Amino acid sequence: MSEIALLCQGLSKSFTNGLPVVNHLDLSVTEGQILALLGPSGCGKTTTLRLMAGFETPDQGRIEIDGQEVAHANGRKSTFLPPEKRRVGMVFQDYAIFPHLTVGENVAFGIRRKPNVKSRVQEMLDFVGLADLSDRMPADLSGGQQQRVALARALAPEPAILLMDEPFSNLDAALRKQVRHEVRTLLRKSNTTAIFVTHDQEEALFLGDHVAVMNQGQIEQIGPPEIIFHLPRTRFVANFIGQADFIPGQVTETGVVTAMGLVPQSINATVGSGVDVVIRADDVSFKEIVEATDEEPNGRIVSSQFIGMNYVYEIELNDGTRVHTIQPHVRRIAEGTPVQAEFIADHPLVWFQSNA
Ligand code: ADP
Ligand code: MG
Repeated sequence: MSEIALLCQGLSKSFTNGLPVVNHLDLSVTEGQILALLGPSGCGKTTTLRLMAGFETPDQGRIEIDGQEVAHANGRKSTFLPPEKRRVGMVFQDYAIFPHLTVGENVAFGIRRKPNVKSRVQEMLDFVGLADLSDRMPADLSGGQQQRVALARALAPEPAILLMDEPFSNLDAALRKQVRHEVRTLLRKSNTTAIFVTHDQEEALFLGDHVAVMNQGQIEQIGPPEIIFHLPRTRFVANFIGQADFIPGQVTETGVVTAMGLVPQSINATVGSGVDVVIRADDVSFKEIVEATDEEPNGRIVSSQFIGMNYVYEIELNDGTRVHTIQPHVRRIAEGTPVQAEFIADHPLVWFQSNA
């Protein structure tokens, strides 16, 4: 069993209007793990990170870092350690590098009262690949280099956990991919425990050993990226990771009957009951129906989106349900075309009991 580097239990926080921004949140991160905290804008990610760092006090709950209780909302016996006593490193969304200090002075900032500052700064700059830039001013650096300065500064005091708030959002798309690769390599090399916040699912799946999907102040699901994708536990998770459609179906002995016909997989739901099956764009294939054939169309193309390598077509099935399908960029089909769509169920179905 690995050591737990960070533990949050029943964490809650609300601001002036009293509505909880973080709502009884439970979370644990093991040593050396990278956790992606993923959720839509406004769901409470930054507030959660600020609670961990000690920039906010919780209304309820407790936080442990490296086995030490750093916050515990417990009436008059409350515990609260300020950020500088918490052994956390923080990389802010805008990096918050001091513009009037050199690169080296920035990295030295958190360790300026410690011995061997110079050699530690040099070690950190070597580590992030900026060994020769110690005397430069931040304004002379590229976005990717500034990001590495922020990382070196946060890691210099050897924090027990590194917290990063949307660390790549200020970089343009091409640089973002390169930098997140570098950051992953650096975190692995130093066996750093890290929590990073993002609203970008691709980034979360790439960087996170575990992904925690957050919605309205709570963690809806946490686990390895593949599990979150293949076995979403809620509709929200299914939709947020990998853009799901939901297709209504009727449970029978032999499978689920949908507007695309029988999906021959028996599921653990009452025969005769209604379910909504999760269906993603790679789960749907289709044939165009030209007039001369005798097959009946079960839907038609209602929109198309060109995304470079692929087209994503939206099909409206005869019962009004809409599903998406991803196709090669050479398969160009006009809107309005009648189609016979098929559900390719080559993996276990994910379904939810229908609300109706
Ligand atoms: P996220 O990082 O997921 O986008 P935040 O944690 O920044 O979400 O914010 C969640 C909600 O809390 C938002 O509605 C935001 O306006 C509110 N909020 C955050 N900080 C404060 C604050 N200091 N005072 C009042 N409301 C706040
Ligand atoms: Mg935020």
